[in-house]
Amino acid sequence: MNNKEQIENHGDNHISTSIKTPLRADAFDKSDDEKIKNIQHHFKMIMEEMGLDLTDDSLSGTPYRVAKMYVKELFYGLNPINKPKLSTFDNKYGYKKMLVEQNINIDSACEHHFLPITGFANVAYIPNKKVIGLSKINRLVDYYARRPQVQERLVLQILNDLQNVLDTKDVIVSVTAKHLCVSSRGIKDQSSFTTTLEYGGVFENSETRNEFLKIIAQEKI
Ligand SMILES: [Zn+2]
Repeated sequence: MNNKEQIENHGDNHISTSIKTPLRADAFDKSDDEKIKNIQHHFKMIMEEMGLDLTDDSLSGTPYRVAKMYVKELFYGLNPINKPKLSTFDNKYGYKKMLVEQNINIDSACEHHFLPITGFANVAYIPNKKVIGLSKINRLVDYYARRPQVQERLVLQILNDLQNVLDTKDVIVSVTAKHLCVSSRGIKDQSSFTTTLEYGGVFENSETRNEFLKIIAQEKI
């Protein structure tokens, strides 16, 4: 197999090596503005290489728009400085059953093709001594989604953080999403979607896991 084939196969197999997004040691030495400026330059080169005329009014602003979108929107979740503060509260009401936050919007991009991954996440936990504000779960999901991703790693990153901050293993995370790299290129399968599920603690127990799955299968509000 030559190198190009290896690269393409790796992308299609969606291999990921670690729970951490692979980042360079100097990933955040430059400011966002510097990054936007540099990406703007490089994206202009890509467009010109494709034969596009950047003096055209409609195209001239595209390199800047793409660069800003990468740094500030699509991939803002690469930078730990943007991580939401996951403040927790004492479980004063003594709620000890399952809490499910469902239908959380996923807008991500696959790291192999830089094409959109869209879908939703469902997260549940069983509070021990701590509870977390509901919207913090949505924010955490969004933060990890907004980086070049593989779906398997995305659920693990969300699960890991919630387990740490809630000080319990009793957390479950599922993501169901469509990958544009599957629907619009390669196999071009328009109908398939992908579900990943990770959990710990009491969710290892199939009865508890089924309770979660039954809730998320319910008709939505
Ligand atoms: Zn892909």
